[in-house]
Parts: sequence; structure tokens; C-alpha cells
Amino acid sequence: MITPEEARRKPEPSPDADSAALWKGLRDGKLLLQHCKACGHVQYYQQAICRRCGSDDLVHRAASGHGTVHSFSIVHRAPGPAFKDDVPYAVLLVELDEGPRMISTYTGGKPDDVTFDMRVRLVCEPISDTISLPRFKRA
Ligand SMILES: [Zn+2]
Repeated sequence: MITPEEARRKPEPSPDADSAALWKGLRDGKLLLQHCKACGHVQYYQQAICRRCGSDDLVHRAASGHGTVHSFSIVHRAPGPAFKDDVPYAVLLVELDEGPRMISTYTGGKPDDVTFDMRVRLVCEPISDTISLPRFKRA
């Protein structure tokens, strides 16, 4: 059973073998993308192999941190007690300049300011000693 106190605590990402480098990079203020040396594909969601060609010859490179809002949604009803104080907030589907798309949230302004194709820039927001979340503000 979950206590009310636990329900108010936000879930934290728990890095695994595939995502450890990504989370360390975010802590250092960098968004690491996986570049496939075999086919050139660039991916955000960290995996042991390239999603396009299956090669395991992947190398991390820091993203520029720049992107465009491809789509977004404004959340008015918190998905749980932990997010009650955050609403309303904007969930973004950001298309990074390097190509991959990632889901994130908007920071540094009102959710109503968000528009399609708005240029955004990465902000690494620390939530604990080991975890920083990738969020985006207006560029
Ligand atoms: Zn590949």
C-alpha cells in the first residue's frame, strides 16, 4: 500500500545499463545522443543497438540542445498527487536539431506561451544529487 506521503513524491528515473551515460551527461549539463557509426542514424532513446540498422557500433555525442516544438499538450489535471502543484504545465514533443524527437516539459514560462514550431533550448534541471531532468525553455 502507498502512503499519502509516498503518493506526493514524484517518481524518479532509475538509470540502467543502457541509460547510465545519458543520465550522467544530463547531470553534467549535456544531452547525449547515440550516433550509429555504421549508418549515421541518431537516436535519443538509449539502446544497445541502432534502431535503424541493428549495429552495436554506437557513439555518444552531445546534442546542441536546440530544437523545435513538433507538438505539445497542456496538462490541466495532475496525473497524481505529486504533480498537483505543477498544473497547468506543457508536455512537449521536441524535434531536436539532430533529428530525434523526445518528450519533455516546458519550463521558464507559462504553458500558454507554447506554440507549434517554437524554437526551444535544453535546460538540465537537477531534482536530486544524481538526476537532472531534460526540460526545454523558449530559445
Ligand atoms: Zn545504424
